[in-house]
Amino acid sequence: MNRRTLLQGMGSSLAFASTSAIPWGTLQAAGTTPDQGEPRGNRQAIRKDAPLVPVDAHVDRITEIYTCLRPFRLAGPRIETQALGNKIVVHNYGHGGSGWSLSWGSSRLALQLLSKSAPAQKRLAVIGCGPMGLTSAILAQRAGLSVTIYAKELPPQIASMGATGHWSPDSQFCSTESGAGWTDRWIEMADFSYRMYQSLLGLPGDPVEWYYGYKLSSVPFGSVAAHKTTEFAKFNNPNRRYQPIQLDLAADAHPFSYPYARRWQNMLFNINTYARLLLSDFLAGGGTIKVQNFENAQQLLGLPEQAIINATGYGAKALFNDMDIIPIRGQTARLVQQPDVNYAIRADDFFFLPRRDGLVIQYIDRAGSYNNTDDTPDPKESADAIQQLANVMNGIQS
Ligand SMILES: Cc1cc2nc3c(=O)[nH]c(=O)nc-3n(C[C@H](O)[C@H](O)[C@H](O)COP(=O)(O)OP(=O)(O)OC[C@H]3O[C@@H](n4cnc5c(N)ncnc54)[C@H](O)[C@@H]3O)c2cc1C
Repeated sequence: MNRRTLLQGMGSSLAFASTSAIPWGTLQAAGTTPDQGEPRGNRQAIRKDAPLVPVDAHVDRITEIYTCLRPFRLAGPRIETQALGNKIVVHNYGHGGSGWSLSWGSSRLALQLLSKSAPAQKRLAVIGCGPMGLTSAILAQRAGLSVTIYAKELPPQIASMGATGHWSPDSQFCSTESGAGWTDRWIEMADFSYRMYQSLLGLPGDPVEWYYGYKLSSVPFGSVAAHKTTEFAKFNNPNRRYQPIQLDLAADAHPFSYPYARRWQNMLFNINTYARLLLSDFLAGGGTIKVQNFENAQQLLGLPEQAIINATGYGAKALFNDMDIIPIRGQTARLVQQPDVNYAIRADDFFFLPRRDGLVIQYIDRAGSYNNTDDTPDPKESADAIQQLANVMNGIQS
């Protein structure tokens, strides 16, 4: 099998999780599919959940605050080929708030471009050791290439370690105007990534797992327009639902002091374990890592490899002078683990995710995040989110 055939066939060799494998059956209630707005008909009432273990929501539980910049482009990520001197560079950056989620699929597209423009190359340089760099490198290895990663930071120092860590494949991906041009490629990326993630479930340390969460509101869902600075494109795959249906819960079917509650289910990434797994898979596959900073694109001409994948995330703005990259500031705080807490909460202005490598809390849609280069941690922002979570916990009825 040649390398191109291998790259094209990579999806088919993976365990393919059919939609029926998704545990929708655990969610039995009257509800709607908010993502498509279709009524779902009558269903049985949801069983009352086992008592929830409360989150110990106090600022003194914070172990770390991460502030980082999402590499957003109105036109969507840059996945394209560029000649640079005698080198071929394939860009693979600019994934906004969906980089972890789409990494496998985006890297697969980048490698398909590479196999078209540099089919004879057996050695590959990958610049960047975040989710895009690591998945590009691993897929290239599986296609038979000898790969060296060059990066100024490695996990756990990379910006992506501060991500929330859930499956969010169309989060801040591109503007609504650019969305139509992406539909087919987005579905291809999301689908391949989703299938890859099914093959990473159930591994030691749970790099990837399913979780369930509660969305809580004082007013009916959808009655208040979300505050947005930019319209971001939303996507659907007509052939596959990436997340189980969200279900509206009756007031006596949940313990929260909110009149409106919804239950959803989604995948999360325990990023500490997952990043380490990616690194060790790459090294076990014979990969080499060199810590190196490139001040400008011309310095790439000094590399021994002719074929290069540029997976530098926000760093591409300076490295390739890409002024189309717009920073979207984001901050997450990590709290001491509570293994018994196994549910997420989305309420008021915060999102809480029960990651095993540290509970994650985030103030959502903080005004002024768009086009904001300030990556200085703001402890008050995290304290505000924790206070809101504490209020929800205080209202839980046993
Ligand atoms: C607060 C927040 C929450 C998020 N939550 C989620 C989420 O829940 N789910 C999701 O899917 N996505 C999420 N994202 C988005 C996701 O984190 C990004 O899309 C992703 O980090 C992009 O990965 P990357 O590999 O392109 O870049 P990075 O992880 O930033 O990696 C870039 C790599 O390139 C290297 N590099 C850069 N410049 C140079 C240079 N000049 N020379 C050498 N090396 C260089 C860096 O050292 C690093 O190794 C979130 C982002 C933020 C900010």
